Order: sequence, then structure tokens, then C-alpha cells
Amino acid sequence: MTDYAVLIIAPFIGSFLGTVILRLPHGQSVVSGRSVCDSCRATLRWFELIPLLSWAAQRGRCRRCGARLGLFYPVIELGALAVAVWAVAVTGGWLTVVSVLLGWWLLALAVIDWRHFLLPDLLTLPLIPLGLAAVYAFGHQSLPDAGLGAVLGLAVFWAIAAVYRKLRGREGLGFGDAKLAAGAGAWLGWFGLPSMVLIASLTALAWAVSANRRQGTLDWQAKVPFGSFLCLGFWITWLHGPLGFAIR
Ligand SMILES: [Zn+2]
Repeated sequence: MTDYAVLIIAPFIGSFLGTVILRLPHGQSVVSGRSVCDSCRATLRWFELIPLLSWAAQRGRCRRCGARLGLFYPVIELGALAVAVWAVAVTGGWLTVVSVLLGWWLLALAVIDWRHFLLPDLLTLPLIPLGLAAVYAFGHQSLPDAGLGAVLGLAVFWAIAAVYRKLRGREGLGFGDAKLAAGAGAWLGWFGLPSMVLIASLTALAWAVSANRRQGTLDWQAKVPFGSFLCLGFWITWLHGPLGFAIR
């Protein structure tokens, strides 16, 4: 029952996440303000705001001015649906609900970091108490392991970020990554952190290599939105357990 509910509301949550992603980095309210066409500023009616379907029915164009609506919203809506399908396939019951909420949260964080190289405190810091609450509710690990995870995640990433900044004179790893790692430690326990970092590093490396290949040059100075890859590692470790040994 919860599975169907989660899948049906997923594209609507995706629409909301799209608004959060567009507005939060600019300090705009995510709850007030109506949706308008970026081109003609016409207020969109309710039937123009149905996720995926409205976009498909209007062939990706504004009903009034014909301007292209862009792929941003449909992609985020599909992303939110993919998160829900993944969580439903791996978990069950209330664990699905909590997992899917975490997945949507991480999706918003990942896309914001991808676009702005920014992990807003408003989205990273609440993950720490939410993770501890999830541990308390589900007992999938002990609270001391979760608390230690939060402290270690913050301390290790903070140290790496500080050392990198000192050595290279520029930001490599941001302090936002450290706060995200603290949240991950709370959800996953300290023993989940190595898996998250390994998955994030390998996918980031694969992405950097393929991006360099497309551009035909090797630019190791290029900025990598590492927080996005940390979100992916966080999510995979949450659903599938740490690599090497199972926690569930
Ligand atoms: Zn328009």
C-alpha cells in the first residue's frame, strides 16, 4: 500500500524538489510564489502543473507564448520517480517511506551541488538529527555507532578540506561536504562512511575521465561537484549496506 502511494506521489515531490533546487540557492521562499512561465510570466494553471503529463501534453512548450519549457522539471520529476522505484524494490513498509524521503532529500542536495558547487546548511545539517531519529526508530544500528559516525564524518572531512586548502591554496573539498558526511555518519553509522567515500570517489573519477574524454583534454584542475557523488554513495550505502559486510 505504502509502495503505491510512494510511487504515485513521487513525480509531484519531484516538482516540489525542482522548485527547491531553483530557489533555495538564491535564498527565495520555496513555499510562496506561484509558478510562472519564464518567458511570458503568465501564471501556470493547475492542469499545466501536473508532473510529466502536462509537459508531454504541451510538447515541452508554454501554452500561451510557445516558449520551450526546458527539460529541468521533467528530469527532476523522473529522478524523484527513479528514487521511489529503487527504494520500493529494495525495502518494504515504513523503511520504504523513510528511505524514499532520504532519497528525495539527497536528490535535491545532489542537483544543487551539481549546479552551484554548494551544499546549503539548510539541507545538510538537518540530516544529522533526522539520521539519529531514524536509527532510534528502526534500530538498524546502535545510537553510539550513529553518533560516532556523525562526529567522524565531520572531523575527517573537515580535516581533509582544511589540509587541501592549505596545500593547494583553493577549495577542493568544501566544508559543506563535511556537514553532509556528518549527516551520512548519523544515518549509516561510522562503518558506512568508507563505503560512501569509495563509491563517491570511483563514480566521480569515472565522471571526470569521461568528461575529459569528451572535451579531448585532461584537466585535473577542473572543479568536481563531489557533494553530488557523496549523495550517490550515501544513498547506495543506505539501501544496500556497506561494501564488504552487511549491516542488515
Ligand atoms: Zn509563456
